[in-house]
Amino acid sequence: MGGLACALALKKHGFDRVEVYESASNLGFVGAGIQMAPNMARILDRLGCWDDIAKEATNIKSTSIRPEGNTNKELAFVELLDIKENYGYPHMVGHRSSLAGNIYEGCKREKVAFFFSTTVESITTFGPKPSFIAQPRHGNAYTVEADIILAADGIKSNCRVSMLKELNADANVEDTGQSAYRIMLKREQMENDPELKELIDSDRVTRWIGEKRHIIAYPVSNKNIYNISTAHPDTHFAEAPSATYTTRGSKSDMFHTYSSFGELCHRMLDLVPEGEVCEWKLRVHAPLPTWVHGSVALVGDACHPTLPHLNQGAGQAIEDAGVLAVVLSKCPDGSPQSINKALQVYERVRKERAELLVGLAAASGKALQLGEGAAKEERDRQFAALRAGKGPVPDKWADGDTQRMIFGHDCMKVAEESFDEIFKSLTQDARL
Ligand SMILES: Cc1cc2nc3c(=O)[nH]c(=O)nc-3n(C[C@H](O)[C@H](O)[C@H](O)COP(=O)(O)OP(=O)(O)OC[C@H]3O[C@@H](n4cnc5c(N)ncnc54)[C@H](O)[C@@H]3O)c2cc1C
Repeated sequence: MGGLACALALKKHGFDRVEVYESASNLGFVGAGIQMAPNMARILDRLGCWDDIAKEATNIKSTSIRPEGNTNKELAFVELLDIKENYGYPHMVGHRSSLAGNIYEGCKREKVAFFFSTTVESITTFGPKPSFIAQPRHGNAYTVEADIILAADGIKSNCRVSMLKELNADANVEDTGQSAYRIMLKREQMENDPELKELIDSDRVTRWIGEKRHIIAYPVSNKNIYNISTAHPDTHFAEAPSATYTTRGSKSDMFHTYSSFGELCHRMLDLVPEGEVCEWKLRVHAPLPTWVHGSVALVGDACHPTLPHLNQGAGQAIEDAGVLAVVLSKCPDGSPQSINKALQVYERVRKERAELLVGLAAASGKALQLGEGAAKEERDRQFAALRAGKGPVPDKWADGDTQRMIFGHDCMKVAEESFDEIFKSLTQDARL
């Protein structure tokens, strides 16, 4: 998401030659849904690809939070009032392939050059002309020299490893102890069951919560697909090598994990064909000392992996892209010194906010998965107050104050307005 958005944003800001190196053979079918908050939509609209994404996405009007067990009675129901009026864009949910595919179409229109099936092995120089080793799936490795490298190679980033090694710093991977099932059900599978049909026909994000686990679900792709994502203690990755992030799960393990959830959830989970249970390890890492070295900057999950509980990981990667395009287009000249300073402006504008959201996502997940005790009683008191129309929402993405802070922030505007002042205040990176 971050890499595609960077490529498109740079082209839209007048950069002539933009190349994308991607290890996958194509963008393919990314089988999962994604929540697309107004702060993401605002940037994609400026890049000219939001309308096509929004066309098949669902405009979310409310969220329902329900406890584990059989009652299916709501702990809270929150209407997402005036999101479009307040923030310019609705809160939508869609299919990842639609989001990635439409940014990719924008890139193709702008003549971005794509090198698929090509893995960036490592960054070899950080400046004055940064370079990396590209390993095509078939053929010999070669070195690519660039003016600027934006490394959006995700949670398992090779570029992050290269940068931290160069800086003699650590990339402490933090085990969240959590993993997730990601499931997509088709309308045909649900429409003969009135309760399941109601779910796929709704404009609602529904979350079922229990101790140390939850399920979140919403309709995508013009309501032809119901997307389900979960989070629970990770038991299968304990012995897996640290580089393993996905595994084929078993249906019986999935049922066992969610045995305390109600009959409605079980009917949903039962629709997943045996052999198609996919489990994802949720990994994050400690905040990095820096995202920038020389003429290289890290982007997205490579520098701020975020747990999914706030629905902001991709949104933040796309904010990175919007800010990078602004700061690089405002860079007074193409010298390595100016490029480095512009990238440092990017870090100044983005790092604190992204890391705040990383913390908020972890805290929101924790609050939703509390076991018996005082903290859970307080959370449930807040849910009860919400039913009377008052107070904060413990599921933070639906909380009014949190929305103001996240959805109301126009990162590109902030970058435009603060560039000159920050740029002037910076001295040349002493490490160069
Ligand atoms: C269960 C779950 C649910 C989520 N839900 C949401 C949500 O609702 N809303 C939201 O905003 N975010 C959500 N996220 C987070 C979001 O998916 C990520 O934050 C986002 O995809 C990060 O974008 P990225 O571009 O940094 O990395 P990625 O999307 O992971 O992209 C990295 C790309 O780099 C490629 N690559 C990797 N290594 C190399 C290499 N060495 N050389 C070349 N190419 C390479 C990969 O193939 C991939 O295409 C969720 C995450 C999870 C796990």
